[in-house]
Amino acid sequence: MIQQNINRIKEELGETTLVAVSKFRTLEELTNLYDTGQRIFAENRVQELLSKQNQLPNDIEWHLIGHLQTNKVKMIIGRVSLIHSVDSLKLLKEIQKQSLKQNVVTKILLQIHVAQEDSKYGFVPNELVDLFATHSFTPFTHVQICGVMSMATLTQNTNQIEEEFQKTVDTFHGIKKLITNSEDFTEISMGMSGDYIIAKKLGATMVRIGSKIFA
Ligand SMILES: *Cc1c(COP(=O)(O)O)cnc(C)c1O
Repeated sequence: MIQQNINRIKEELGETTLVAVSKFRTLEELTNLYDTGQRIFAENRVQELLSKQNQLPNDIEWHLIGHLQTNKVKMIIGRVSLIHSVDSLKLLKEIQKQSLKQNVVTKILLQIHVAQEDSKYGFVPNELVDLFATHSFTPFTHVQICGVMSMATLTQNTNQIEEEFQKTVDTFHGIKKLITNSEDFTEISMGMSGDYIIAKKLGATMVRIGSKIFA
């Protein structure tokens, strides 16, 4: 079942990276996912990620996709290969601080707020480009800013989803022009089970899919 779902999704994705969202799933389900050959797993809560990581093979790449509180940063530094959900300068500074302490470079994406729902975290697109224009991001020696992430509004309105993803892509290019290490700045993480086809069409390099895999 999982194997069939993965096969179909991968065929649709082509070159786009599949980040398998394993949040709320049992260890058994994760083991089945692992057995399909999938190696990028994503969780939205720190404790759940660490607990699952401890019980599963160590060649899994773990990504964090949920809102991260600053007081939990030190728990996950060195344990995750990508944090998709960096949504404030304060959080970025804490990741730098803890990464420096542990002498590792942490890869992150900047979460951009493009959806209409108030509850979604993230930087306002224009403010983010302004931050880069004013060099607020240069002192991060132990953080590698790899790109951007966004979530579209949960809606059936395809035009709206397209507009929100396009805004993400435009912001990505706006930052890429300003960033010093622009060769590291390559990833656009957008698209979930309901909208990943649209996301891919508009230029996603990574999609985050959960329910469609386990359906
Ligand atoms: C849960 C989640 C996903 C996956 O959602 P599905 O609709 O199950 O594919 C993707 N991104 C984030 C940030 C999530 O929290």
